[in-house]
This record gives sequence, C-alpha cells and structure tokens, in this order.
Amino acid sequence: MIEIENVRKSFGPLEVLKGINLTVQNGEVLTVIGGSGSGKSTLLTCINGLEPIDSGSIRVDGVEVHAKTTDLNKLRQKIGIVFQQWNAFPHLTVKENVMLAPRKVLKQSKAEAEEMAVKQLTHVGLGDKLDVYPGRLSGGQQQRMAIARALAMSPSYMLFDEVTSALDPQLVGEVLDTLRMLASEGMTMICVTHEMKFAREVSDRVAFFHKGVMAEIAPPAELFGSPKDPELQKFLAATH
Ligand code: ATP
Ligand code: MG
Repeated sequence: MIEIENVRKSFGPLEVLKGINLTVQNGEVLTVIGGSGSGKSTLLTCINGLEPIDSGSIRVDGVEVHAKTTDLNKLRQKIGIVFQQWNAFPHLTVKENVMLAPRKVLKQSKAEAEEMAVKQLTHVGLGDKLDVYPGRLSGGQQQRMAIARALAMSPSYMLFDEVTSALDPQLVGEVLDTLRMLASEGMTMICVTHEMKFAREVSDRVAFFHKGVMAEIAPPAELFGSPKDPELQKFLAATH
C-alpha cells in the first residue's frame, strides 16, 4: 500500500504539491491526469524518494520514504519507475541491459539475472530481441524493454510517467497493451498518462491534478462521466 498524507513540495518559490492525500491499495491501478506543470511527475519522483518533500509523509508498505533512517536503495527495489524515455546502454544488448540492475543491486548471479531478463523480455513480447542492441529497436520496443528492466527487479509497485508520450502514434498501442497486461495480472500501478481512453479502460480510479492540487479522484466512469471540478470539466473538454 502507498499512503500519501498531506504532502507539500516546492521548487524555490513555486509550490508544486499543495497538500496531497492519497492511498493506493495493493492491486489498484491509479491513473493520474492533468495539465502540464500540475505536479504529476513530481508526485511520482517523491513516491520513490528521488525528490525530497517539504512536509507530510509518504509510506510504502508502512515504510516512511523520506525518513533519514530509510534505506532508499532497498525501498526503490520495490518501486519500479518508467519514464517517457530511457537511455539504454547502447553497447550492451537488450538482454544485458535488463540484467544490469539485478546483477549490480540484487547481486544476482549471471545465470539468475539472465533467466529473469529472458523471462521479463519474453513477457513484454521481446523474446526475439534478446541479443540485439537497443539502437535497433523501435520506440515502442524500447519502452517495453524499459518496462522489462523495471520488472526484472520484481517490484511490488510500478510507476509510469507518460511512457507513450514520446512515441509515434502507431507505436502507442503496443506499450499500452503491455500496461494492460500488467494491470490484469494484479500489479499495483500509478500511471501518469494523456491517454484518456486507456485511463478509462484500465483504471480502478483516476486522479485529476490541477496546479499542485488533486482536484478530483473517482472511478473512471464517474470521473469521465460526470466530472464535478470545473477545471476537470475544462480539461476534458479540451482533450476530446
Ligand atoms: P507535464 O505534464 O508537463 O509533464 P507535470 O504535471 O508532470 O507536467 P511536474 O513535472 O511535476 O509537472 O512539474 C510541476 C512544476 O514544478 C512545473 O512548474 C515545473 O516547472 C516545476 N519543476 C519540476 N521539477 C523541477 C525542478 N527540478 N526544479 C525546479 N522546478 C521544477
Ligand atoms: Mg510530467
């Protein structure tokens, strides 16, 4: 479970998260929507401790992410994060890229890491690309490699930050299908996305962020069907 309580976060004079309260249950798929600069990415980077918070608390499985005593490296093994773009090591094959973190961080043997890499790459549909170099992959395949790389650490939670935004439209579907598959397997996920159809189909709940405030959160049928917040109404009108 991810428990976010009254989290505030500023960059200099700009308050980017203005008292966020949110609990994500195990097995839940939460999507986060909202305009540019509303604080969506910052929320994700605060959850896995990449960014400090100013006040409030974030607990993952009961562990206080921002406590001085928390072993962030250990915590981050539980929380996979995939961004818009990930620069793979070009001189390593796809499989070697996915093996890297399990080898270095989890101290897995080569054989163990290789087995996991093959398993996860096959899972995301890249079983035939194990020994090619990342430069030879399409954008959609590269994103699926990034997902496999995160999954190789056996995370309990996955955070996705607009993983399809940098892709050509014809490649978006294959990556969303991979996210749908993870959701159907019961992975606990927070997905920041601009893909409203995807959000509607896959989410248990959708959260709308506006200027650092979580202005509305509801199951998709409710949030898209009868949005209450005026800013959300405007946002949805503009994205349709
Ligand atoms: P987008 O949809 O464009 O990705 P977002 O909702 O993810 O937007 P954030 O990236 O969380 O927005 O940024 C929120 C605000 O914080 C923005 O105004 C941004 O410029 C600012 N910001 C983000 N990171 C930093 C940083 N490291 N230093 C200073 N300001 C930052
Ligand atoms: Mg962002």
